Amino acid sequence: MTHLIDEQMKDDLLSRGYSRRQMMRTALMFGGAAAAGLSLNSELAFAKDRAAMAPNMVRIGSNECWTGPMAPGLAAGNAAFANANRYSPNDEDAKLVKAIATVENVPEDHIATYPGSGETLSRTLVAFCSPTKGLVQASPTYDNPTPVAKFLNVPIASAPLTSDYRHDVKAMLKANPNGGVYYVVNPNNPTGTMTPMADIEWLVDNKPGGSIVVIDEAYLHWSDAYPNNSASHLAAAGKDVIILRTFSKIFGMAGARVGYFMARPDIVRKMQIYDGGTLSGQLPMPSLVCATTSLTAHDEIAKRRKELMANRAMTIDFLTKRNLKLIGPSQTNFVMIDWKTRSAKEMQAAFRAQDVEIAGGRWPIWPTVSRISIGSHQDMEGFFSAFNKAVSA
Ligand code: PLP
Repeated sequence: MTHLIDEQMKDDLLSRGYSRRQMMRTALMFGGAAAAGLSLNSELAFAKDRAAMAPNMVRIGSNECWTGPMAPGLAAGNAAFANANRYSPNDEDAKLVKAIATVENVPEDHIATYPGSGETLSRTLVAFCSPTKGLVQASPTYDNPTPVAKFLNVPIASAPLTSDYRHDVKAMLKANPNGGVYYVVNPNNPTGTMTPMADIEWLVDNKPGGSIVVIDEAYLHWSDAYPNNSASHLAAAGKDVIILRTFSKIFGMAGARVGYFMARPDIVRKMQIYDGGTLSGQLPMPSLVCATTSLTAHDEIAKRRKELMANRAMTIDFLTKRNLKLIGPSQTNFVMIDWKTRSAKEMQAAFRAQDVEIAGGRWPIWPTVSRISIGSHQDMEGFFSAFNKAVSA
């Protein structure tokens, strides 16, 4: 065990109530999760499942962006690829951190880059949970941390969303007043709904000492309130928070794997003790360049938001005219339909037969609800023309 877990990690784990036997599992998270059959990023695992899809398939099942990186980012990333014989010819990671600090108004030492936010989300459980410090989440919400919590013997407490689909922060605290991680997805996946900042601030002020509120802002850019809907000010103010961000959504870079988190420097260090901070700063150089350029491509961001909002409105209009119950209002690039009398699995198969991939049956408490990602205008036309056949199948 000693070659896997050094003294600093051991002290940290023992102080959080891990037994010696359980400590090995934590070490395995980074050293051997794959060997243990655990995917640290369920999106990648889902994507592998879909790898065999027909080339003409309408892919609106996994909340990806309908198009690739923004033109200026793509041009800069392509140019950087020509210099990929060098590890870091222009200190690309530092440049991204600088750009984030400027855009977010957060000090540079409060920012760490990672390959997407899924890995970082798993990392929050390793750093702040244990068999006695649970994961506390809403239900339903993004399900990526569940297998990680199970693997680490971390208890999971879930509090249902409110009737208007906000995180019920008081119920979350009540569900486990001694949690390690309180996980808030804002806007939420799969409901697409927002939780007011005042509720998040209440949770931050009332959670137990030593715990952390993780605020996952993967879909931030798609909401009407952007850019005034971020909790990044809580990180800048030194609160017990970790703000997760990814370039996988509006920036169209899911396969390029860039993300970051914002937190107080001591929290950044705590998140990094299991890899010595070595993973942060090791992202592929062209991806970093693409991300840095895209982050300040404000016109492109505005253009994508406008396009998404038009396609989302068109989709909602199509579905409501067919008297379907939608969960929402969606502030994201996906909507949820309650079929009421048909299961989400069954509807996924019916759409798949029409070459349209939607999400199916991922949230056990809502077996009749499907999540449909909003794609391009053409993608949504494809969904509409498959609709009648799928629904009558
Ligand atoms: N957080 C939420 C809420 C998500 O929906 C996703 C992916 O769909 C992620 C995090 C992880 O994305 P990535 O690892 O690509 O950054």
